[in-house]
Amino acid sequence: FASTRSLLEAAAKAYGEQDAYVEPDGSRMSFASWAGRARAVAAAFDARGVGKGDVVALMLPAGIDYAVCYAAAAMIGAITTGLNPRLGPREVAAILTRAAPALVVRDEAARLPPVPDGIEVLARSALPGADAAAYVPDVEVTRQDPVAIIFTSGTTGLPKGAWFDGDNMAAFSRAAGVMSAPYDRRLTATPFAHAGYMAKLWDQLVWGITLVASPIPWSAARMYEVLRAERITVGGGVPTQWSKLLDQSGVSRETLPHLRVGIVATAPAPPELVERTAARIGVPLVVRYAMTESPTICGTEPGDPPGVLFRTVGRPQAGVAVRVTDEAGHSVPVGKVGRVRVLSDCVMRGYWREPELTAAAFDEDDYLISSDLGRFTPEGNLQLVGRTGDLYIRGGFNVYPLEVENVLADHPRVRQVAVVGEPTPVIGETGVAFVVPADPAAPPTLDDLRVWSKARLADYKAPDRLVLLEELPTTAMQKTDRGQLRAHLQAHPA
Ligand code: ATP
Ligand code: MG
Repeated sequence: FASTRSLLEAAAKAYGEQDAYVEPDGSRMSFASWAGRARAVAAAFDARGVGKGDVVALMLPAGIDYAVCYAAAAMIGAITTGLNPRLGPREVAAILTRAAPALVVRDEAARLPPVPDGIEVLARSALPGADAAAYVPDVEVTRQDPVAIIFTSGTTGLPKGAWFDGDNMAAFSRAAGVMSAPYDRRLTATPFAHAGYMAKLWDQLVWGITLVASPIPWSAARMYEVLRAERITVGGGVPTQWSKLLDQSGVSRETLPHLRVGIVATAPAPPELVERTAARIGVPLVVRYAMTESPTICGTEPGDPPGVLFRTVGRPQAGVAVRVTDEAGHSVPVGKVGRVRVLSDCVMRGYWREPELTAAAFDEDDYLISSDLGRFTPEGNLQLVGRTGDLYIRGGFNVYPLEVENVLADHPRVRQVAVVGEPTPVIGETGVAFVVPADPAAPPTLDDLRVWSKARLADYKAPDRLVLLEELPTTAMQKTDRGQLRAHLQAHPA
């Protein structure tokens, strides 16, 4: 397919009245009306002066209108960027400055700060329906034209805008593996502003896949209801969501006969959860490792032993090369920790209008230099141990917080944990464990955690200080906000 536009038109013909999107309230849109509405919205964009190469920012929840605007922009060669409606005004302002959109389409409920002059704002309620005059300007759009700018989560600083073209989209489709099959009905848990949506779009159009948006606010009862009512074949969720689903009474292979596979992204899947899911609903869970700059990297496969799922993110996916290197760029031996580098057509073309950041993101062999640290196991699975910025050095020894967190998380008195290095005069840095106790009335002591840690890891990895919290601070993408934890340490030194 020459472009998203031709693919969209072909899908409208091939899959016609079949559902393309289903929203939690039951509204649905077929492949035919997706293309029809996209043409009408493309005309509305065009009437507002939006053309090829312009950026359209979508501040919309995951669902039908987002998909329509996305396709409309692709039809006229415009580039979409999503603004997660959960972002705060400061984050939104930073993204608007970098993406410099010509138009913002906003949900009435989203918190949009005042936009700079010259940016048009279109309310979601003013989007035309399918019956509006559908005029599509005659512009040539190729697979090398930019399609989307996706901003990173901003876990380590301000969000960065990774941009992608049609060739990227086709590459995601080739690497999808077990995640996509013809006529799948997929439950998606992530916002569409996230790289995951862009990575699914090409596949969706090729295979006639139905995307069903997760209920908001999420509850296990509603997830169960949607899985059944919509005959979901591929489910996505974080480990606690899967675990809460299994706690629902009635959940079984008989009530969920369509479910084929469950996907766990951004966090490891505990072996107990994998076993319980297999026993209860006969469905394998697979883990995916991805980042905005490369929405496809590694994954486990159905049938991998639960230990592989828990401790690693699996093997590189089709068409993806992964190296683990020292800081000079040389590959380190199996088992040694180094920086993860990625080469594939799935990797972004660059950071939008940031030539210097882009140049620094790639090495001379064109590998993307990530800020993740990992090691390959002898079986060829990648194990993540943390991020370059999170590593701390205690008395001359490197400590990777993720490794310590994984061990402390198994302690029966610990519900959630984050480990952060704290600068101290004598040994350089020491480890602080921020813990949300399983039972607030019976929290673990520092000594409990040190004994537990030393029984499983080198002694210098045991935490030196314990801070109990009611919950861990998170970013808009639900990741632990380590910046806030570091600020806490500065305000409350040992
Ligand atoms: P920023 O780059 O702005 O600091 P970010 O890196 O958190 O933010 P994303 O691109 O959304 O933004 O997240 C990608 C990161 O998430 C990866 O680099 C990795 O550290 C982490 N990650 C992704 N998948 C997994 C997984 N399966 N297990 C553990 N960590 C994961
Ligand atoms: Mg990142």
